[in-house]
Amino acid sequence: MLKGIGASDGYGIGRVMIIAEQTLEYTPHEISDVDAELARYRAAVDTFCDHTMEQAENIRQSTGEKEAEILMGHIAMIRDPFMGGEIENIIKAEQCAEAAVDQICKMFIDMFSATGDDLTMQRAADVRDIRDGVIGILLGVQEVKISDAPAGTVLVVKELTPSMTAGIKKDNIVGIITETGSQTSHSAILARALEIPAVLSVPGATTCLSSGEMVIVDGGKGNVETAPSEDMIADYTQKRDAFLREKRELESLRGKPTAGADGIEYELFCNIGTPKDATKAMEADGEGVGLFRTEFLFMDRNQLPTEDEQFEAYKQASLILKGKPLIIRTLDIGGDKEIPYLGLAKEENPFMGFRAIRYCLKNRDMFKSQIKAILRASAFGDIRIMFPLITAVEELRQGRELVEEAKADLKASGIAYDENIQVGVMTETAASGVIADLLAKEADFFSIGTNDLTGYTMAADRGNGDVGYLYSPLQPSVLRMIRRIIACGRAEGIPVGMCGEAAANPKMIPLLISFGLTEFSVSAPSVLRVRKNISKWTKAEADAIAEKVMAMTTEAEVRAYLDTVV
Ligand code: PEP
Ligand code: MG
Repeated sequence: MLKGIGASDGYGIGRVMIIAEQTLEYTPHEISDVDAELARYRAAVDTFCDHTMEQAENIRQSTGEKEAEILMGHIAMIRDPFMGGEIENIIKAEQCAEAAVDQICKMFIDMFSATGDDLTMQRAADVRDIRDGVIGILLGVQEVKISDAPAGTVLVVKELTPSMTAGIKKDNIVGIITETGSQTSHSAILARALEIPAVLSVPGATTCLSSGEMVIVDGGKGNVETAPSEDMIADYTQKRDAFLREKRELESLRGKPTAGADGIEYELFCNIGTPKDATKAMEADGEGVGLFRTEFLFMDRNQLPTEDEQFEAYKQASLILKGKPLIIRTLDIGGDKEIPYLGLAKEENPFMGFRAIRYCLKNRDMFKSQIKAILRASAFGDIRIMFPLITAVEELRQGRELVEEAKADLKASGIAYDENIQVGVMTETAASGVIADLLAKEADFFSIGTNDLTGYTMAADRGNGDVGYLYSPLQPSVLRMIRRIIACGRAEGIPVGMCGEAAANPKMIPLLISFGLTEFSVSAPSVLRVRKNISKWTKAEADAIAEKVMAMTTEAEVRAYLDTVV
């Protein structure tokens, strides 16, 4: 078995077709007729752009607009006056066009590769694609025809370039294996968009596999099974069919309301980290955003984002959601989320230290600027504010005071905002669970953050494998916390949602329905699966399960029982 990075889910069973790299060898030489060479270069660029445009059109039709844009980006790059100008300058210095293209592309490739940033490094792959395309045209090299691959082909390439992807016929290519690329590389994005199982970064794939041999691509696990036995093929065929069946079933839930088997409706939101993710949430059929982690705005930079920058980001997300709810969590730094320029002192126990709402309340200017940015954005959609790591009522009160101060400032300046903006509490500490009755009297909503709630209730670090056996939302203590928080919220008539990972856990879903949760906020790829899992239960069935579970004494007992019913 070969191991790589699982980049596009699913199972591909088929025969290998290795796409060897084109040999683009040329001898760099000086030229005497500069004008003729410039004309040759410009004609090659025109052909490249025409060809790329055609490929983009194919991709647009077969896959989608976004994927086509990746290829259109190639045209923009080679037509960019800086890149093109530099290439032409080298030709004007009497170098052949191949050498000129090679040299300038290499400069860009080196520059992008050196950043270490996944997305920028991806642009290096784009420039390689442009270089090979233009030099190939200059040399008159025939392109490899991926579009001729027969049905049941597993494509094996060093690097899957966007231009190669354009030739892929979805019905014929059942799997993709590459030697390079990561989860976020264009190859991965394109493979996922084409819904072809893909395993990337398999070292030496193009040499250790041979064309025609049978392989199985497990895009979820990142495995490539070589020389599979009959039994294994039969086993994976079953898995593949089940996978495709489930996918079809999930797709049939797109656009449908989220409801239990008895028709009781729930809200199904997404967790996001950037305004762009709001698009993913909408594409995934999320009904809103239950948690916008704003830390991203503060990370990977050297200074605090300004109020205006934040306003733009929140407004952008809100506009993408077109009036659907957007719950913005105020800055949750400290613990595992470091922001170097804030100069936070190293702490003995950062998870119990000066972080999140505690830090914000002591840095009022910074906090107020975030709150003002959120308030200003609230004029553009249904925005709600949520405070993280609340452990005492005073923190909520102080946060609310600041919201009122920020509102007064905006009013004085004549700036629009939602006067009735809701202010909620992320219940993710043991203390907030215990005083949920008190908090519910002063909060407009709760959202249960089970990732931290589990850790703080069990006193078990969520990142420490040695105490992983304790870190489970199925622990009787955590279940009691969750039940209590929901009950306290309901008693005061405020909505209670959940934005921790447990909201997407199929075993938790009947329990949450029984406890009275009304909103589930999950990662975008989980939306349809959670909708399906919710649709399995009536409230009465969920109650019967919860009653049994809540009478159990250990996590193992709860888990074993839920295994039999979920
Ligand atoms: C949580 O704690 O459950 C949560 C959703 O927030 P984060 O994972 O950002 O701490
Ligand atoms: Mg948290």
